Order: sequence, then C-alpha cells, then structure tokens
Amino acid sequence: MPRVAVVGGGAAGVFAALAAARLGADATLFESSQRVGVSRALMPLMLSDGRGEDGLVLPEARELSGAGVEVRKGFEVAAVARREGLLEVVRRSNGGERARFDSVVVSTGTAPSVPQVRGASKPGVFVLRGPSDYLALSEGLGSIERVAVWGPVLLGLKVGEALARRGSSVSVYCGASGLGGQLSAPVAAMLRRSAIEGGAGAPALVDGSIDSILGVGRVEAVASGGGVSACDAVVLLPNGAPSYPDAGCAKGPNGGLLVDSSMETSVPGVFAAGDSAEVRFKAGSVPARLFSTARVGGEVAGANASGGMRTASFSWAMEQTVLGVELCTAGLSEAEARSVGLDPATVECAFPGEGSPGQTLVSMVYDRPTRLVCGLELAGWRASSLAAAASMVVGLGLTADRLVHLESPYAPGLAHERSPISLTARQIPELQGA
Ligand SMILES: Cc1cc2nc3c(=O)[nH]c(=O)nc-3n(C[C@H](O)[C@H](O)[C@H](O)COP(=O)(O)OP(=O)(O)OC[C@H]3O[C@@H](n4cnc5c(N)ncnc54)[C@H](O)[C@@H]3O)c2cc1C
Repeated sequence: MPRVAVVGGGAAGVFAALAAARLGADATLFESSQRVGVSRALMPLMLSDGRGEDGLVLPEARELSGAGVEVRKGFEVAAVARREGLLEVVRRSNGGERARFDSVVVSTGTAPSVPQVRGASKPGVFVLRGPSDYLALSEGLGSIERVAVWGPVLLGLKVGEALARRGSSVSVYCGASGLGGQLSAPVAAMLRRSAIEGGAGAPALVDGSIDSILGVGRVEAVASGGGVSACDAVVLLPNGAPSYPDAGCAKGPNGGLLVDSSMETSVPGVFAAGDSAEVRFKAGSVPARLFSTARVGGEVAGANASGGMRTASFSWAMEQTVLGVELCTAGLSEAEARSVGLDPATVECAFPGEGSPGQTLVSMVYDRPTRLVCGLELAGWRASSLAAAASMVVGLGLTADRLVHLESPYAPGLAHERSPISLTARQIPELQGA
C-alpha cells in the first residue's frame, strides 16, 4: 500500500487526500492550522448571507476519517526532501519531526499579498486576508456609511455588491486599466449599465486605483488619480502569491510549482495542486488559482500519487452573477494566450435575448493558425446555462472548426435557435467561406 502525504488541508488537499485513500493508499493530511477543509471561495458569503466560519468548511472534509485519511492538524511542513529512496516531510517546529512517504502532494495555497497603499494602517481599513477579517467587517458594518473597495476586480464587485445590499454606499475601484482592461469591452459596458440601473443598492464603479488613504486618526477619504473622495472605511482585497515548503521543484514565471497534466512536479513523486501549482500549457504555464482547478487538480494529484494514471483537463472556469448580470469565463484572455506562445485573436458577438439585460454577449479567444478555442467569456441573458459547455470547449481543446457544425438543442420560440458559442465560431474570419 503506497504511503502518500498531502501537505495543506484546503480544497485541493481535501480532494487529493480523498482520491489517494479511495485508490487504496495509506494517506496522511498535514494542515498547519487547526481547521481542515476551509473553502476560501465561500468567504464572501460571510458578508452576503451572514455565514459563520463553520459554514466555510467543505462537506467533503467530513468524509476524510471515514475514508481512512489520517489528519494531522497544527503540523506546518517546512520542507520535503528525498532520503534513502523515500520522501521525507519535515515539520517546522517540534525539533523538525520527520515522517517518510512514497509520494507527496503539495497543496499549500497562496500567501496574501496586500496592495501597498499609504495610510493602510489607519483604523477603518479592512484587509480581507482570511475568515476572521470577513467576520470583523461584517460585524463592523453597522457604523459604516461610505466604503471604498479595491482589489481583483470580480472579487471587488462581489464584495462591493454584498456591502451595498447591507446599506452602505460603496465605490469599487476597478484598477488602473479599468473594468474594460480586465473584461471584454461589451461585458464591461453591460456591467456598468447594470450598476447604474441598480441605483443605491449597487456599488458605483470607478476606473482607477486607490493611491492613498487619508484621515486624521482614522479613515476619512481616499485619493485616486488626483481626486479625493470621502469615505469612512476602506476594504483592501489582497492578491495571492503561491506559497509552499521547500521541495526543490521547478517554479513557473507566476511563482507556482510547475506541473504537467498528471499534476507531477519536476521532482519525481512530488505532485502539486490548487493555488500553489502552475500548469504547463502549450509553450508556457498558467496559474491554477480557482476552486474548480483545486478540485480537479487535487483529485488527479491524489490519485496519481497513489499509482493512478489520471490526466487533468483544465478550463479555468468561473460562473457567477455580478450586479445582476450572469457572467461566465473559461480559459485564457488574449494576453494570457500570447504569453503561452499562441497567436491569438478575439471575435465578439451579441445575440438578442429576452428580458433584462436582454442580450447574450460572447467573446471568443482563438489561436489563429490552429483555430484552437483557448478562451470564452459569456455574459447576459442565460449565460449561466452555457457555462458547462464553455468549460468543456476550452478544457477539451476543441477547435472553432469543430464548433461550427456542433448540434445544439432546438426550443421553438426561443430567441436564439443555435448555441451562441457555435454561432460565434462562425464569425471567425479564418473560417469565413470554409
Ligand atoms: C475571497 C475569495 C473568493 C474566491 N472566489 C472564487 C470563486 O468564486 N470561484 C472559484 O473558482 N474560486 C474562487 N476563489 C479561489 C479559490 O478559493 C482557491 O483557488 C482555492 O480555495 C484554493 O485552494 P487550495 O487548497 O489550493 O488553497 P487553500 O484553500 O489556501 O489551502 C491551503 C491550505 O494549506 C495550509 N498550509 C499552508 N502552508 C502549509 C504548510 N507549510 N504546512 C501545512 N499546511 C499548510 C493552509 O493553512 C490552508 O489550509 C476565491 C478565493 C478567495 C480568496
């Protein structure tokens, strides 16, 4: 029976440990904190639906002991090293306690990297690193009238929307490149329209970053692009930088542990999954920092660490409703596709829908020479119903040529009678007349 260590008990670690145990391995899960199975993707729900810290724990974490996984909480792994043919997991404290395994899955996530802003230490600034920070903000909301939110744009919108619903007047700073720099122009315009129509219950969207936080004794205003706006609280949302014990593995340009589609690193027997991993793709690599990539990568890493032969297919898929707009993204942006050696172009289409916002927008990124569809962004009417299809188109590496004649369901009377994804593929100039 192979002995498998899983280091880090977040989403990726839980799915890895379960997959390893279910393939018959003797699996041990090491977690530095006292909580296993906390899903960080659920943290915004502490603001919107009053969820407590216990409500962040994945139901799958309760299956660990039944599956035979030994869970060691409060065990921070400092290093993984090969010794006498086995992999040794070394504890940071307790005199460097050691345990030996046949293979190791590293799933230690990211460490928060907080935007550097002058005045960030003033009372009234909430830096949302973890569950206790979300809880503190939720409990402090009663005394906050005007709040400025800054961080990764989709998370900023989600947090801003939750705060606005709870009665604060919210401005979300969308960054120096603005909303349009991070989403396709039509989708950015649809979100802006929806924010304006949402009135007081929706956040105001500001193109720009927070340059400094002003106030005597506590937050009174933020400065951005030469202007000053009054507020009595600021919410800063950190980015994450991959963090892991020293295991001698090759790292990618984004700082993650480089893995192939079997989730194995450059060190034989050491696998990685979740936010600490970076997936080789074409001539480059892409971070795997989503719940969905943590789940799939964790399952594949855990199974292969136990002698399995699984392959992960990634689509980096997200599906959410932001400001009342259904939004789903899969795959790479044009800039990301270029960074992995592709020759990308984008085609955008709008399809009439029913009701508000009354349109389905599709933006497709494809590689010009091969017509591989490497990214999809869908927004508006019934966009969520296309999310799984978008994920499979990208994850399975379909080409636009295949999509053009893809059958899709026919529902008499509906506004579009073929899949908007397939209809968008038809608009690719390289396929015109083909
Ligand atoms: C606010 C927020 C909202 C999000 N929303 C979405 C969303 O809507 N959709 C989506 O798909 N994704 C979302 N994500 C991303 C998603 O939550 C993460 O990609 C996912 O949780 C990563 O899981 P992980 O197991 O890799 O890392 P983590 O969940 O960070 O788990 C890592 C674990 O390792 C432990 N650890 C760290 N170092 C050590 C060590 N040396 N030894 C032992 N243990 C260690 C940590 O304590 C932690 O428990 C969101 C993330 C955040 C922060």
